[in-house]
Amino acid sequence: MKRVGGKRKQKWKTYTYAYRHTAVTQHGSVYWRTASREVLNHLPAEQPLHIALQTCFSISDSPIWMDSSTRAECHHLEKSIGGAQVLANITGSRAYERFTGNQIAKVYKQKPKEYSQCERISLVSSFAASLFIGDYAPIDYSDGSGMNLLDIHKKTWDETCLNACAPGLKEKLGSVVPSSSVLGNVSSYHVQRYGFSPHCSVVAFTGDNPASLAGMRLEEGDIAVSLGTSDTLFLWIKDPTPALEGHIFINPVHFEDYMALLCFKNGSLMREKIRDNCSSASWEEFSNILRSTPPGNNGHIGFFFDVMEITPQVVGIHRFNAKNQKVSEFPQDVEVRALIEGQFMAKRIYAERLGYKILPQTKILATGGASCNQDILQVLSDIFNAPVHTIATANSACLGCAYRAAHGLALQSSASTFADIVKAPQNKLVVTPRPEADKVYQPLLKRYAECESEVIRASKIL
Ligand code: ADP
Repeated sequence: MKRVGGKRKQKWKTYTYAYRHTAVTQHGSVYWRTASREVLNHLPAEQPLHIALQTCFSISDSPIWMDSSTRAECHHLEKSIGGAQVLANITGSRAYERFTGNQIAKVYKQKPKEYSQCERISLVSSFAASLFIGDYAPIDYSDGSGMNLLDIHKKTWDETCLNACAPGLKEKLGSVVPSSSVLGNVSSYHVQRYGFSPHCSVVAFTGDNPASLAGMRLEEGDIAVSLGTSDTLFLWIKDPTPALEGHIFINPVHFEDYMALLCFKNGSLMREKIRDNCSSASWEEFSNILRSTPPGNNGHIGFFFDVMEITPQVVGIHRFNAKNQKVSEFPQDVEVRALIEGQFMAKRIYAERLGYKILPQTKILATGGASCNQDILQVLSDIFNAPVHTIATANSACLGCAYRAAHGLALQSSASTFADIVKAPQNKLVVTPRPEADKVYQPLLKRYAECESEVIRASKIL
């Protein structure tokens, strides 16, 4: 968390209407020791926070999102609830090691005394908000969806999940609120120590991924595709169908809708490898090949997973000719197009499995290193049959927090929509789908899914 500019005693007049944090990581948890609320309520302005709060935590090594040591707890949670798909149906995701319910279960198992001495568990986001309001801040719906504990439909904690993780958890977690809720004003600690206006409101904090969705100004039916080392897909969904791959969160902008997140590990590094093998290590040559090969690649389909993929869990390179026969290699130009088409067909198929629907107004917002390549974006546009815009995403999570603060505050006095509040410049339209493409890709998408099932089946037999 960063302070937003200025010297310590500077009067933050510009922040008198609302204050938001810079983005915070999802899934981390903080364990407040019994009686800490009192301390938080009466922070002495002459002390820095790390001194004032030094006795307040019952666990010093709080788990963060990078922890993957909770496999046993994940198995237990899925078993308790009736299986991975049942858990996904309720909480939006199957059990993940980094998700907070499983992290809490491990803390309870390994440190029962410290767990019993804890009166409140915050996420990193609600922890940071607590510091600003000088009281325990509620967890927001969106970040709460990354815990394997929240029923994303009822928007309440799920008792079976809570009981499977640790006793007395409901009281320790407190309430959950829409992400646009105004939690109150900044505490007198911030007024006295840092010169905040006492009228400065604090809107619920959330995690970096939901905040990014707000920062990119996604709307219903839109997709944001980040083409970086890994490829990530953010989707705005109305009627989610949670699956074993991907995550569904309650939408941070409009809490009756949802957002989905899909991560594909084999992104740019895989593209670079094929570029080096097939186009003389040149992106320009790579683009020439994409321009000179037809949409649909004459029926050739490829799966390119240099490292174990997450979506789906498969590794290796698998190629199929137009008759669905496995082949060991493709000509170089076919290989290049098979890679890019394969990567984007997978994204569309997995998005649709999560309930995503391409609407007439759908737009794709592309970002990340490969989004500067118009020929790669043309394939993306053709496969989704939607226009592609590029966005500058530097600090989209922080920007999203600022938008959400303004929106949250405006909602108190009127039914303003997010779009009413956020008057930012339009993104740049780069490509539109070619008219013949949809006809080509509809049957190819079906074949891609069939070939993928075969690849998954074969990888399980090996
Ligand atoms: P990170 O996920 O590490 O933040 P970036 O979003 O910065 O990654 O993307 C970096 C990647 O962009 C590089 O690995 C490179 O493969 C890719 N890239 C850069 N220029 C091009 C281009 N012209 N065409 C395709 N990919 C590109």
